[in-house]
Amino acid sequence: MSKPEMLNYINGEWVKSKSETIGDVWNPAKGEKIATVRYGSKDDVDMAVKAAKEAFPEWRETPPLNRARYLFRLKEAFEDNFEDIARVLTIEQGKILDEARGEVRRMIENVEHATGVTTLMTGYTLEDIARGIDCMGHRQPLGVFAGIVPFNFPGMVPWWFMPYALVSGNTYVLKPSEQVPMTQTKIFEIVEEAGFPEGVVNMVHGSKDVVNGLLDHPDVEGISFVGSTPTAKYIYQRCGETGKRVQALGGAKNVVAVMPDAPLSSCIPNAVASFYGCSGQRCLAGSILAPVGGAADEIVEKFLFSAKAIAVGDGLNEDTAMGPVAGKAHKERVLGYIEKGLAEGAELILDGRNCKVEGYPEGYFVGPTIFDKVTPDMVIAHDEIFGPVVNIVRCKDLDDVIKLVNSRKFANATSIYTSNGGTAREFKYRVKPSMVGINIGIAAPMSFFPFGGAGNSFFGDIKGHGQEIFQFFTDTKVVIERWL
Ligand code: NAD
Repeated sequence: MSKPEMLNYINGEWVKSKSETIGDVWNPAKGEKIATVRYGSKDDVDMAVKAAKEAFPEWRETPPLNRARYLFRLKEAFEDNFEDIARVLTIEQGKILDEARGEVRRMIENVEHATGVTTLMTGYTLEDIARGIDCMGHRQPLGVFAGIVPFNFPGMVPWWFMPYALVSGNTYVLKPSEQVPMTQTKIFEIVEEAGFPEGVVNMVHGSKDVVNGLLDHPDVEGISFVGSTPTAKYIYQRCGETGKRVQALGGAKNVVAVMPDAPLSSCIPNAVASFYGCSGQRCLAGSILAPVGGAADEIVEKFLFSAKAIAVGDGLNEDTAMGPVAGKAHKERVLGYIEKGLAEGAELILDGRNCKVEGYPEGYFVGPTIFDKVTPDMVIAHDEIFGPVVNIVRCKDLDDVIKLVNSRKFANATSIYTSNGGTAREFKYRVKPSMVGINIGIAAPMSFFPFGGAGNSFFGDIKGHGQEIFQFFTDTKVVIERWL
């Protein structure tokens, strides 16, 4: 039976790219092909940007409240299709249904937040900056923006940016990850129902050629990127060369510290979810567990006990606690890091390499894995593994753990478990990562706060969602006015 092909959405129509490069889409739990996607070309980008550019003048003049009404309709349509979106997401990405549902909820929250445009996009004024002269700063949209996104959150991540760009009066071109194109295709079927004017919102599937087409296009004003650090750096540099606005969110290596005074009965299950949720494929996932001081043995023992209990399987089964990793190549990469850890002399106390799931012999499963006695200089303590592999670095005190956090080149997120307010304050004050959890393993900012890290985890200044994102999508035009 032929597999469905994912089409581009340009100027209000579903269009087939003329490109001959066709990629497969896989169900990672079954290891089977489920769809195909054509990797678009510069021509597809040109078509989409042309449509978006032509739609801009009329869309820009549409009053902000009227633009917001499209988002209200979209929110309702997303709610009506909530479960269907979550299922498609699980089928192509692998995460369990509950995680997919959480992702869709976060996606919708961004649509909801963006509807506040009439207060969030306002400029500011001051009378009498000199006698009889008034000054006002208007926030104006710029034109066509584009989004380039990763494989791990195919539903939510595009919506960290797109609703804000649109409601501010810009038009948009999205490039989903070529590994997981089905989720946004499903979502764009719903976008179509919301009835945006033709050309306001567009989607082009593909990989590097589409990215480079967007980077080179003179009519693209700015790019929002989320993905690995090497690609984020590349996007940031190229946007610098061509004078585009850019926000580029990269990889992570998050430390989760457990102080000896932490209430272990509540913090261990929370920490375990931080490391193994989405099979470790989250930019906010814990990667290094840092038990501090004398309680380390007890912390490790309890963590190991909980990790062993995780039921691995197909994310569509409601009793599965952890799904597969998202692709075959990705599984090999994760296994490669486990070999690396062994070669470096870390102690493998839980080995997920030969994880078997009954009835799913071809699935890309890696079981919960734990390395103890990892030292901060090891490769597995520096590189982003992006899988269900926990690296335990034992620390002697708070200074030691803060030093560990601040010596990683990534600075996306970090968490501490403690019952001491002074310890928590010291930690949040001194650590470099910009998303900090206190007794929370996944410090995920909600749509009304900014999302993004520091160091090698973020390139740019204005982060994803939050209130500041309206600055990214607008230019402040200052008018100085005197009436004679
Ligand atoms: P990736 O960098 O391989 O791909 C991201 C996007 O860039 C994709 O759309 C892809 O088609 C494109 N791309 C890849 N290589 C390219 C190249 N050489 N030239 C031009 N375009 C290219 O990332 P991924 O593997 O899809 O996603 C996983 C990464 O994303 C992890 O590092 C993870 O930490 C990161 N991530 C970060 C955040 C955050 O908020 N900081 C959130 C989610 C994911």
